[in-house]
Amino acid sequence: MPDRAALVTGASSGIGYAIARMLGEEGYGLTLAARRPEKLEAAAAELRDAGYELEAVPGNMTDEADVQRVAAAHRERWGRLDVLVNNAGVGIGAAVPDIVTKRVDMQLDVNLRAVILLYRETAELLRAAGAEHRNALVVNMSSISGKAGQPWLSVYSATKAAVIGWTQAMNKELNGDGVKSVALCPGFVDTPMTEFVREHVPQDEMIRPEDISEAVRFLLRTSPYCVVPEIVFQRPGEAL
Ligand code: NAD
Repeated sequence: MPDRAALVTGASSGIGYAIARMLGEEGYGLTLAARRPEKLEAAAAELRDAGYELEAVPGNMTDEADVQRVAAAHRERWGRLDVLVNNAGVGIGAAVPDIVTKRVDMQLDVNLRAVILLYRETAELLRAAGAEHRNALVVNMSSISGKAGQPWLSVYSATKAAVIGWTQAMNKELNGDGVKSVALCPGFVDTPMTEFVREHVPQDEMIRPEDISEAVRFLLRTSPYCVVPEIVFQRPGEAL
């Protein structure tokens, strides 16, 4: 049984998958959560083949009961939580007059509400890990569009800015309990989410998912009294 455990949402592809793989390499027991069971199972099979111990739990982050089920399944399997990665996210572009309420709700629910609910559902486990080693870590996936709002991605940008605000609040509320939070704010990363932009930004000129997972590896190694509240990943020439 691994002596540390991590829960990663949106772990079936892209950035979440890269972070989950890195955490497996680092010896964490893993709970992988994602929306589509087949995709999640394929990712879980790859990581099991690599020798990592894991639990795969499908769940829709727009559904409070699913968020609770994912947290409960993690607790049941591992009984502890050292690293929580709130990575699941969705971005739907639209010009202001074309904004569809259902899509606003979906982005708010996955990108922000699920993050809040998962903190609530896991706070006790995170505090227990913090009491043990003062280095429990929560990684919240924001975006560079949370630092500077983007046209046509306005709703997405607003949810990601809210994630930064939430992360700041969590550091003020939970640092004293040994729980550190970080907001990661990348520009274009080469994942399925950026397929729509490949025509304009070549894949090999994007940030790699491994750039993000290596940053998280660094965070695992920081000393208990070093808090890194935010990391921005820019592409050359894309200064904020
Ligand atoms: P991706 O499409 O490869 O992964 C998205 C993940 O989120 C998938 O595992 C998917 O199952 C999960 N997800 C989406 N909706 C869900 C729902 N309703 N319930 C449960 N899970 C759901 O994309 P990615 O680029 O790896 O995105 C990961 C995170 O990084 C997202 O939060 C995204 O907003 C953020 N991000 C991505 C980029 C980028 O350029 N790719 C840049 C900045 C931030």
